[in-house]
Amino acid sequence: MFGNFLPNEHVKSIFDIQPAKLKQKGIKGIITDLDNTLVAWDVRDASPEVINWFEQMKSHDIAVTIISNNNQERVSVFSEPLGTPFVYSARKPLGRAFKTVAKQMNLKKEEIVVIGDQLLTDVLGGNTAGFYTILVVPIVQTDGKITKINRRIERIILNYFRKKGKISWEE
Ligand SMILES: [Mg+2]
Repeated sequence: MFGNFLPNEHVKSIFDIQPAKLKQKGIKGIITDLDNTLVAWDVRDASPEVINWFEQMKSHDIAVTIISNNNQERVSVFSEPLGTPFVYSARKPLGRAFKTVAKQMNLKKEEIVVIGDQLLTDVLGGNTAGFYTILVVPIVQTDGKITKINRRIERIILNYFRKKGKISWEE
């Protein structure tokens, strides 16, 4: 039960995701969520650390695309200064945005990781579409309205995984 909600990996933040390690695994592309994954949901711009993370990926020839369920303004204002491709109103967990981006990257599913802070959108969408998924701890504990509901469901699923011994990290 809930198998598609289980991430392949769980890390504290994107900064634990290093290009050299990804390359070892044959990863050439990253599809990442924006809100509470790269910066807090109510922070407009990328921090210097995030800018540096994107540059590191670029210098290792790892393509990064942001896909977000948030609106055009939010996602473009954040992504354009980074010079990174993006998809807004992506309707995760639906698979279409993931598949479109993989095609644009010209990479196989096995060469792409999906990163995000939510089980119900990022992890479920990434897993269902057949990608390797990495869950990060949300940057802040506050959320927009819809996400608040998702978080309640998420908690139930996480408790289930914990009980079954499928995950060992602490919240
Ligand atoms: Mg998010």
